[in-house]
Amino acid sequence: MTKKNKPHDGTTSSEHPQITIFSDWCKSCGICVAFCPKEVLAMDENRKVFAKYPEKCIACHMCELRCPDFAINVKEVEKQPTSAGEENNNA
Ligand code: SF4
Ligand code: SF4
Repeated sequence: MTKKNKPHDGTTSSEHPQITIFSDWCKSCGICVAFCPKEVLAMDENRKVFAKYPEKCIACHMCELRCPDFAINVKEVEKQPTSAGEENNNA
């Protein structure tokens, strides 16, 4: 089986931060799991990290900063204005 540097299924894309994990770079040290203050990350059966609770991520970047292999990336997602784009004319 050929392995590519495809992001793990921890990739998320909604209102919460987008967490991308490059499984091939992950050496399963567990540092990111240990340092995540919100317990967002976990190890799968192959001891690869994935985002178990991505909705709990606060984008503190602790995992990203601590990962010795640059295997995890956290991107803050700009919040979309929730149909509050109405004009606010207080005439
Ligand atoms: S810190 Fe990096 S290498 Fe270690 S388990 Fe987390 S993603 Fe994998
Ligand atoms: S950015 Fe912070 S809260 Fe989000 S997964 Fe990484 S360590 Fe956890």
